[in-house]
Amino acid sequence: MGTGILRSDMSESSVVAEKSKGTESAFESWGRYPKYDARRIPLQWQGDYPAVMQGVHDSSLAVGMGRSYGDVCLLNGGNLLVTTGMNRLLAFDPETGVLTAEAGITLAQILDFSVPRGFFLPVTPGTKYVTLGGAIANDIHGKNHHVAGTFGSHVPAFELVRSDGTHILCSRSDNPEMYAATIGGMGLTGVMTWAQVKLRPIVSRKIDYEGIQFHGVDEFLDLTNASGHIEYTVSWVDCTSTGKNFARGIFMQGDHSQVPGELKPSSEPKLVFPIEAPGFALNKLSVSLFNTAFFHKQIHKRAVALQDYEPFFYPLDKVLDWNRLYGKSGLLQFQYVIPWDYAREGTIAILGEVAKSGLASFLAVLKAFGDVPSPGLMSFPKPGITLALDFPIKADRSFPLFERLADMTREFGGRLYPAKDAAMTAAQFQAFYPQWRQFAQYRDPKLTSSFWERVSGEAA
Ligand SMILES: Cc1cc2nc3c(=O)[nH]c(=O)nc-3n(C[C@H](O)[C@H](O)[C@H](O)COP(=O)(O)OP(=O)(O)OC[C@H]3O[C@@H](n4cnc5c(N)ncnc54)[C@H](O)[C@@H]3O)c2cc1C
Repeated sequence: MGTGILRSDMSESSVVAEKSKGTESAFESWGRYPKYDARRIPLQWQGDYPAVMQGVHDSSLAVGMGRSYGDVCLLNGGNLLVTTGMNRLLAFDPETGVLTAEAGITLAQILDFSVPRGFFLPVTPGTKYVTLGGAIANDIHGKNHHVAGTFGSHVPAFELVRSDGTHILCSRSDNPEMYAATIGGMGLTGVMTWAQVKLRPIVSRKIDYEGIQFHGVDEFLDLTNASGHIEYTVSWVDCTSTGKNFARGIFMQGDHSQVPGELKPSSEPKLVFPIEAPGFALNKLSVSLFNTAFFHKQIHKRAVALQDYEPFFYPLDKVLDWNRLYGKSGLLQFQYVIPWDYAREGTIAILGEVAKSGLASFLAVLKAFGDVPSPGLMSFPKPGITLALDFPIKADRSFPLFERLADMTREFGGRLYPAKDAAMTAAQFQAFYPQWRQFAQYRDPKLTSSFWERVSGEAA
């Protein structure tokens, strides 16, 4: 039962198709910085790679939806192997929940198939418009990291194709070193053609939601400690306020409702961010007004609701292309994890530095990672606190601030997330990921990225 071919005419695919017109043009990552030209080569079938590379000598990189913020999905002057046409569902076993699909399928397409059958993703990021291959290659995490670990922990197997034509079946027992290098391996070990993911059962689309206001990092930590049994937790934090409002926020938690309910597929988003916002649209005043309004949107200290999973997991997906709000110059994301020993101290210090800078935006997310080990050699999560935030790019101010924050992260024993990065230096990366040289042994010699060239000093 349950095996089928998915429609490929969904809106996110057409967004990519639109983006993919022509062969030589900019492929934008979500932060829209940096901007590079590359040749796009669509992969439609599992057998396309490496055959499509015949006569093409440049270095290459497989890409999905370009939902990474920086240059991990960019390759200046190289070939981008766009995988979103390779999006067929291959098999589904309702006994085990294991779904097998081509790697270019999006999580949105998986949900359209699985929710009506009573299954949900084991781990999901804050957007459903990412591909299965992209989710594995960055070993993404979600609101349930403290109980479920990363996405890669739920991937029984996948196939990796190398540039020399070798097909490698990877699992914890088949080629385990290549399995570990590819999960979180940023597309550098080969092209994933298909992969499995073990879905979890649900009986309703609804989430039992609770939002709780907090003031400061200590209250955030108290709420975190009290919520270990709840599957999903995440906090929005105001990183513009100082004084008595410093690090105020809303702790959001939820579980899948156990009351059987409707399991229909989601409707497609209708709103598209209509214009290219001028650079001044996001300034200190507009952002702090937003933060104050967001904090007071929840009138009481606690609010409960039975909420659909879409606004709970994907509040920003309602508006396609919301990244245009930052204007043409784009945005920088900054996401750290600091281990528990220094998590409190480091988070207070970094939030203080961000508030002082007046540069932070309204999208700041604070969360505790749990201790489920990540399966990837280069996976980002480790136990501690993670903070993710955006800065509009302002040439003279954003980069110095970023560098300061990255250095502070390093002093507190933390590291930054490559999927969100466009600015860490090679020295910072190599200190954050001392295992990078071991990882480099698994890299396919013909695959590279602008990120890798920047942080490893290795050209293809
Ligand atoms: C609004 C928003 C919210 C987000 N929230 C989260 C979050 O909560 N947690 C989190 O962890 N991340 C989050 N992200 C980041 C996002 O989940 C990751 O960057 C993800 O990897 C993007 O997938 P993609 O399909 O767009 O891949 P791309 O960005 O196109 O590529 C990502 C990487 O995957 C590699 N890759 C893609 N396909 C293949 C393939 N078939 N074979 C080999 N390598 C491949 C690429 O080479 C690249 O290194 C968020 C992003 C956005 C825009």
